[in-house]
Amino acid sequence: MTIESVIGILLLLFSFILILFYRNKARRNETNLRIKKNTPKTPIHFKEINFLNEINDPIILLDKYKTINYINKEGIKKFGNQALGKHIASIIRVPDLLQSIDLCLANKTNEIVDIEINIPLFQFFKASIIYNKNKDLQYDESVVLFLKDITEIIKAQRFRSDFIANASHELKTPLVSIKGFLETISGPAKDDKKAQEEFIPIILQQANRMENLINDLLSLSRIELEEHLQPQDKVNLKEIFQSVEDIHQNKLKEFEFKNNLTEDIYVKGDYEGLLKVFSNLIDNSIKYSENNKIIEINHREIKGKLLGIAYEIIVSDRGIGIHKDKINRVTERFFRVDPFKSSQRGGTGLGLSIVKHEINKHRGVFEIESDLGMGTKSIVYLPKYD
Ligand code: ADP
Repeated sequence: MTIESVIGILLLLFSFILILFYRNKARRNETNLRIKKNTPKTPIHFKEINFLNEINDPIILLDKYKTINYINKEGIKKFGNQALGKHIASIIRVPDLLQSIDLCLANKTNEIVDIEINIPLFQFFKASIIYNKNKDLQYDESVVLFLKDITEIIKAQRFRSDFIANASHELKTPLVSIKGFLETISGPAKDDKKAQEEFIPIILQQANRMENLINDLLSLSRIELEEHLQPQDKVNLKEIFQSVEDIHQNKLKEFEFKNNLTEDIYVKGDYEGLLKVFSNLIDNSIKYSENNKIIEINHREIKGKLLGIAYEIIVSDRGIGIHKDKINRVTERFFRVDPFKSSQRGGTGLGLSIVKHEINKHRGVFEIESDLGMGTKSIVYLPKYD
């Protein structure tokens, strides 16, 4: 092979490699062009992300100076329509949150912090502070604040711990008294028959108080556990009131008891549950009546109060009544208008709370009308059985 032919072959190979290289480059350029065509010319603005307004939690975008650049509809609802363009510290004055935003910007990291805001409303949020490095967005450096409202969860937790504290206190009071009297009659008054005769009934009374309290607590927790299950039995309210009258016959002897529910009327419910409801209402009318000892039961069929036809049952007394400001609190656990009167009369402070939950379980309605010194009407609506 001559030198000329070797050079010729090499030139041919070289030009072949060149052709291949330019062909690939052309292809690469074409794909780049295609990618560029799909990339928007102007970066996306937060305002254009419409679904953020559909989210039921506040979302706020801050620039690197912590100025609010965007706030979604829920954020405006919570923090007002003046928030846009303002510094975050003038809208949410919570040191923990501001510190976490600083940390997020300084370290370019995401942060999570629980915050409590008391103005304008008492609210709790879990704040996710997200460092935003998305180049598609208009801002070179920004922070997204996502505020998850956890007020209901915190309230439920506080309610539970308050309830445990209240229940323990209520149980401790009679227990301390029982212990004290037992120590006296087994110690200094060991041979004092008179003291023993005086103290033993008090011990029994306090033990009964504890028993009533424990029974009411158990009833309440059982009803709450099953509140989602509507009872479906056919219950005759006439029979319920006959049983209630039997249970309270001794105390009712002092009363003019006008029971106008003398016909068979049937509601959809649970016999034991409804017996507890009306027994508690009559018990309260007995406990909180002083001079005017009249209790009356009335009923009527009614449309429009519940889904379908309902029965309205009214237990009225002419007792001490409830002050207007206190009426909507009497169904709260352990709430008593007059704690001394209630405990003197064997009350646990749980009776109306049990009534409210039991009626809720029956998909009924419970209302109270009362006038101080004039008496109280407890009104129960229950679905008619058909
Ligand atoms: P209690 O065991 O103390 O009676 P309840 O839950 O049954 O607890 O009732 C709560 C409070 O509501 C009572 O302590 C009492 O102050 C008030 N109340 C309930 N029923 C009546 C009524 N018929 N008349 C006057 N006050 C009532």
